[in-house]
Amino acid sequence: MARAVLLTGGNMGPVARNLEEARRRIGERIGTVVAASSMRESEAWGFESDDRFLNQALVVETALDAERLLDACQQIEREMGRVRTPGAGYSSRTMDIDILFYENRVISTERLIVPHPRLEQRDFVLAPLEEVLPGLVHPVSGKTVRQLREELKRRGGG
Ligand code: ATP
Ligand code: CA
Ligand code: CA
Repeated sequence: MARAVLLTGGNMGPVARNLEEARRRIGERIGTVVAASSMRESEAWGFESDDRFLNQALVVETALDAERLLDACQQIEREMGRVRTPGAGYSSRTMDIDILFYENRVISTERLIVPHPRLEQRDFVLAPLEEVLPGLVHPVSGKTVRQLREELKRRGGG
């Protein structure tokens, strides 16, 4: 079994209900959800939108390897109506499921980069993550989630 940390998020449709539904499907098809943050609200990041986001961090015990985990996350996104427009950049979405961590592994393939490469720039990631795993150590920087969040706040970013 591997421990993975996922971030679910969306800003279209019944957002809280969608996050609950994603969590249910993750529990059915990916593994046991052993911890979950609250659903935290934030403004759109990287593009303009009046529709605010909700995000939730989930800690999952899974038998899937990292690639199969990405497949399963993308399958759930598709089932929940996610439409990707290639080359359009960031846009509103019903469901986004990102892999933040997979054990303490460092992965870099064409499809998958773990830990998620932009997590330290985003308070909408670090805030829910800090709720569930404040002491988790980032395997590249060696910093804890709590430290990463403090540094982001000090820079005034996120
Ligand atoms: P961001 O990655 O900046 O949060 P996004 O979630 O909007 O942006 P997507 O369109 O959902 O981006 O994903 C683009 C591609 O990112 C996916 O097709 C997937 O192959 C790749 N990817 C790389 N690393 C990861 C990861 N850790 N978790 C999820 N997808 C990843
Ligand atoms: Ca994302
Ligand atoms: Ca994504």
